[in-house]
Amino acid sequence: MTVQDRDVARPENFRVARVLRTRRVTPHMQRVSVQVDDLLRFDCPPRSLGPHVHALIPRQDCKEPGWPTVDEKGRAIYPPPEQRPAVRTYSVRRFDHAENSIDIDFVLHGEGIASAWAERATVGEEIGLWRPHARILEAEPERYVLAGDHTALPAIAFILDHLPEDAQGDVIVMVSDRAEEQPLRLPKRMRLSWLHMPLDAQSGNMLPAAVRALDPQDIRASFVWVGAEAAAARDIRAFARKECGLPASRTYILNYWKRGMVEGTYDHGE
Ligand SMILES: Cc1cc2nc3c(=O)[nH]c(=O)nc-3n(C[C@H](O)[C@H](O)[C@H](O)COP(=O)(O)OP(=O)(O)OC[C@H]3O[C@@H](n4cnc5c(N)ncnc54)[C@H](O)[C@@H]3O)c2cc1C
Repeated sequence: MTVQDRDVARPENFRVARVLRTRRVTPHMQRVSVQVDDLLRFDCPPRSLGPHVHALIPRQDCKEPGWPTVDEKGRAIYPPPEQRPAVRTYSVRRFDHAENSIDIDFVLHGEGIASAWAERATVGEEIGLWRPHARILEAEPERYVLAGDHTALPAIAFILDHLPEDAQGDVIVMVSDRAEEQPLRLPKRMRLSWLHMPLDAQSGNMLPAAVRALDPQDIRASFVWVGAEAAAARDIRAFARKECGLPASRTYILNYWKRGMVEGTYDHGE
């Protein structure tokens, strides 16, 4: 158990983070850099595929932030519902050990609590970070398929930053338009395709068709990593597992968000 902020016991894997700076990376992507005490506990091995955390965003109508506490056995205790922060999952775009900070890139999609918070976040403001998690590969796969929409771009960028120079595979990223593309580190034997589809598109998704269009033999030799809207992720999961016969140990396909539903009311699919 850790004692921090006003000497209250908090869960071991919970930290209060303070906003250091914010930056608009592209028109719909806001980078929020937050400082965390004891960052090493939150860090992941560099080869982690898309480390992510639960971001706890305090309610605006509450004086107290509503951080979790622990009971005498170290079990997490949540505050009552009327004080409970919103819990949203976000990828770590970058760890910076020199300044004990984490960069989180928030898609500004215009509807949610987290998206709105990122748009107006100010220096010194606090959010909670809880339960860091990442898929860690035991062995280097022969090749990779990395596919995702705007919400998965930070995780894909993190993965690419840490892949060995001789890694090979395909990267497919769907964003709303060219202005949302970002420069990515791309090992020489990886191919990158950008797809464009409006952020507010009410239906349809170009990602499943783009993954299906890859060479099936390449897919069978790959570790398939996907982060996307739930319907697209479900489609690609079924394709990779059932049609291509990949075992679950060679896929990590997450529902990053679900159209019309608030995070916490659906599962992430793995
Ligand atoms: C492992 C993991 C890592 C993730 N990493 C990132 C990340 O690095 N950056 C990031 O921006 N997101 C990321 N996400 C997705 C993010 O958690 C969801 O988009 C989340 O719903 C945003 O919370 P919110 O409060 O803004 O919206 P919510 O309150 O959850 O949803 C409100 C409404 O907005 C819609 N909505 C939610 N997200 C989007 C979207 N992206 N585009 C359009 N409509 C949307 C919902 O369908 C709902 O109707 C990640 C998700 C997972 C599971």
